[in-house]
Amino acid sequence: MEQVKVLLEEREIPRQWYNILADMPTPMNPPLHPGTGQPVGPGDLAPIFPMNLIEQEVTTERWIDIPEEVLEKYLLWRPTPLYRARNFEKLLDAPVRIYYKNEGVSPPGSHKPNTAVAQAYYNKVFGIKRLSTETGAGQWGSALSMACRMFGLECRVFMVKVSYEQKPYRRLMMMTWGADCIPSPSDRTEMGRKILAERPDSPGSLGIAISEAIEDVVGDETARYSLGSVLNHVLLHQTIIGLEAQKQLEKIGEYPDVVMGCAGGGSNFSGLSFPFVRDKIHGKDISVVAVEPTSCPTLTRGPFAYDFGDTARTTPLLAMYTLGHDFVPAPIHAGGLRYHGMAPIVSHLVKEQIIEARAFDQIEAFEAGVKWARTEGFISAPETNHAIAAVVQEAERAKEEGKERVILFNWSGHGLVDLSAYDAYLSGKLTQFELPEEEIQRALKSIDGLPKP
Ligand SMILES: *Cc1c(COP(=O)(O)O)cnc(C)c1O
Repeated sequence: MEQVKVLLEEREIPRQWYNILADMPTPMNPPLHPGTGQPVGPGDLAPIFPMNLIEQEVTTERWIDIPEEVLEKYLLWRPTPLYRARNFEKLLDAPVRIYYKNEGVSPPGSHKPNTAVAQAYYNKVFGIKRLSTETGAGQWGSALSMACRMFGLECRVFMVKVSYEQKPYRRLMMMTWGADCIPSPSDRTEMGRKILAERPDSPGSLGIAISEAIEDVVGDETARYSLGSVLNHVLLHQTIIGLEAQKQLEKIGEYPDVVMGCAGGGSNFSGLSFPFVRDKIHGKDISVVAVEPTSCPTLTRGPFAYDFGDTARTTPLLAMYTLGHDFVPAPIHAGGLRYHGMAPIVSHLVKEQIIEARAFDQIEAFEAGVKWARTEGFISAPETNHAIAAVVQEAERAKEEGKERVILFNWSGHGLVDLSAYDAYLSGKLTQFELPEEEIQRALKSIDGLPKP
């Protein structure tokens, strides 16, 4: 541990996570028990999560110490570099300075291990032997597979079937790290069997896979479920990104006017932005923008409502922007952005107009991503390309207004395992997709009759 201390010191890694609940200006709607309509207590969550993480989920302490065992794992890839995108700036020819955090340097290639190693650690300490989870594009499943292996836990991953088929390489990463990866809907759970009976060719969705992973652990005292986004403790673990960025920017005398990140469940966006949102709550004049795809426009077209986190209606009711738990998004390639809901904290901040949301089509996203690769070199994850599209738009606005802007965004992961999506784009097979209003209204019928926030 002596050498770990020296390295932590040398690299100036933050030793605490930041909990935005301590600074929330208005109270949030609590998660509700679907049976009673009352706020859920820690006991309700105990079959699903270990108690130490449940405590983190509800705490309003501002700063949470990062355990030394977790910091030691972070040292493998943290702090992540903060770069200035000078060549991309030149291409855009706008009065902007663009900075980005490169979260693609972690072993699985995204921001996700920031919470995966923390969750594996807390489960291990609590005496858990096996974790079960869902994964969309496979980034979360691969991050948790690696983290479980680091702490000696077994790992079972239900992978959304369309991604399982489109992305064999992530499945192979999970298997290499020793996890059991299962296409969802599967015949391993009642929920999966029911969906397959109704629709054998179901492409799956994150909501379905979550239901299967939860069903898989309930009743097994040595197993717990793990979620890669959405929940408060997950966003908390990701704040290491923004805390590092603040230190790195301070060193060069910069502070952003605009902070951006793509948002699926909201974790990478929150991780980068929450330390800056804290400044905004305390009076700083900045814009904070969550970017989503037009094919799954939760924040920009969904209502703020109570809804289940999963299709089988097993989770507590969360107050969030949602497209309805029955929503099955079109199989666009940015698998990580295909979730019907959004983190309750992100949703609350949008509702209170502290942060804002914008949506971009996948064609715009890939156009921006290819420009990025041809100037900055790094090939981005399809999810990340949505954030880059928003950066392009922000630069164009700055140019029109003739106003300088410093933009900071989260480069949430690399796209080296997503090249089939680039193939589809480069060969003209990717199509524009506008989600019809009727489809939103159809899916929203599933929340009729639920309590209202
Ligand atoms: C999973 C993922 C996302 C979306 O998830 P969030 O919880 O919203 O961050 C975005 N980018 C990458 C690279 C991902 O792996």
